[in-house]
Amino acid sequence: MFDVAVIGGGVIGGAILRKLSSYNLKICLLEKGNDVCVGQSKANSGIVHAGFDASVGTLKAKFNVLGNAMMPKYARELGVKYENNGSLVVAFSDEEMITLGELKERGIRNGVQGLEIIDQAKLRELEPNISPNAVGALLAKTGGIICPYELTIASIGNAMDNGATLFTNFEVDKINAGDSFEIYSANGQKVQSKIVVNCAGYGSQKVANLIGDYSFTIGGRRGEYILLDRESGGFAKHTLFFTPTKKGKGILISPTVDGNLLLGPTADEVDFNNTDTTQIGLQSVIDKANEMCVGVPTYNVITSFAGVRAYCDKHDFIIEESNVKNGFINCVGIESPGLTSAPAIAEYVVDEIISKRITLTKNPNFNGVRKPDYFFSKLTVEEKNEIIKKDPSYGRIVCRCERITEGEIVRALTQNPRATDIDGVKRRTRAGMGRCQGGFCQPYVADLIAKVNGVTIDKVTKNGKGSEIVVGETK
Ligand SMILES: Cc1cc2nc3c(=O)[nH]c(=O)nc-3n(C[C@H](O)[C@H](O)[C@H](O)COP(=O)(O)OP(=O)(O)OC[C@H]3O[C@@H](n4cnc5c(N)ncnc54)[C@H](O)[C@@H]3O)c2cc1C
Repeated sequence: MFDVAVIGGGVIGGAILRKLSSYNLKICLLEKGNDVCVGQSKANSGIVHAGFDASVGTLKAKFNVLGNAMMPKYARELGVKYENNGSLVVAFSDEEMITLGELKERGIRNGVQGLEIIDQAKLRELEPNISPNAVGALLAKTGGIICPYELTIASIGNAMDNGATLFTNFEVDKINAGDSFEIYSANGQKVQSKIVVNCAGYGSQKVANLIGDYSFTIGGRRGEYILLDRESGGFAKHTLFFTPTKKGKGILISPTVDGNLLLGPTADEVDFNNTDTTQIGLQSVIDKANEMCVGVPTYNVITSFAGVRAYCDKHDFIIEESNVKNGFINCVGIESPGLTSAPAIAEYVVDEIISKRITLTKNPNFNGVRKPDYFFSKLTVEEKNEIIKKDPSYGRIVCRCERITEGEIVRALTQNPRATDIDGVKRRTRAGMGRCQGGFCQPYVADLIAKVNGVTIDKVTKNGKGSEIVVGETK
């Protein structure tokens, strides 16, 4: 019997699992996919929002501002790349300058520090590539950027290092709610737990329905992106937003923590599984980017992708115990700024909600620091040589674009939570995320997966069953 079972291995489930692991509890994570971080948390803008956007008094506003303040330390402990690059909401008319004033006021009421309205000259000084049509901006000094999948994987890995159990390929399909919860997967596995936390993202409505909770509905809204090569990473230093309208925030231009330039996302109602990119969507991203800046280097596109937002009919986060059953906690409708809010949501769920149902005592062995807290490619030659002396596999480059070594790939295949497929290795190491998008390194990565897992290469998949990359040997 587990004390707490968390359903959904995204950034929210991961942060809650990690927080739970700091207490003396028997805990588990149930994830439908063959790996963690396969939902919204793997494909988003990676922005640590300052917190001026959400309406005053909402949970979005509260957890955004708290999460933003927690993120630098949270990322440092987990060895995750984070940068406080600041953000700019750009105005293109006097009317939009008035909206910026309102945004600033709202931000101050939400508790955001360091907001400043700047004029055209200062804006051009900060961002030389900005369009001459831009007239001013709201500068948010606390805005930042982070790698969303690194954050999710590291939170879950750290929780596992502190005793949490992970069940992948566990699609919660049936729940018997009595004195405790019997949770069944679609493929016949069963887990029993005193408390359940529903963090299933786009699957959270279905999971709540399993206990007879029909209090919310979840819809899908796709966002398409374009990613530019690292050569173009310096094009913008801040995250550049358009002034929001009734239709939303529109697209952004932002550097990423890995030095790329990101353009997007669009916003279209779709089915949750629809992560297709479209010609119309990507063209609209390019058109808007060219409105924001002059000379956007779109010749340097290396890939496009889409993520689907799981938005809720309540238009705010729902973070509360279900009215239907004590001990069943919904953490749903966590759309943007969910990534930013994750550490703060986790503290609230564990310390304010779960603590009312179960006694929490500190885990004396908890270690919140995840090793290694360095990125091999960012080390000095001397530091690299030290590591290679101990383990020569760090001296063999597998991904030439991102300069990822065999040692890092083997680590991704053996460290909690272990990667099992090519996309899992990619999210953990960046092998295949560079200019050639895996064209060169994929066979080497596949070979390493087969060797480390002791399977033949035809069993290696891109992202789970049905995505095998070779069918067998030809010679
Ligand atoms: C396009 C886009 C851009 C965004 N940009 C930002 C941003 O810049 N900054 C920011 O702060 N936020 C941003 N967000 C929001 C942020 O990504 C989300 O709030 C966050 O990822 C939600 O995490 P989650 O853990 O709730 O959901 P998810 O990451 O979707 O995780 C849910 C998990 O539950 C699993 N699951 C589903 N059903 C079941 C089941 N029945 N049994 C077991 N497991 C199940 C899924 O496989 C999935 O892994 C963006 C979102 C999108 C889509």
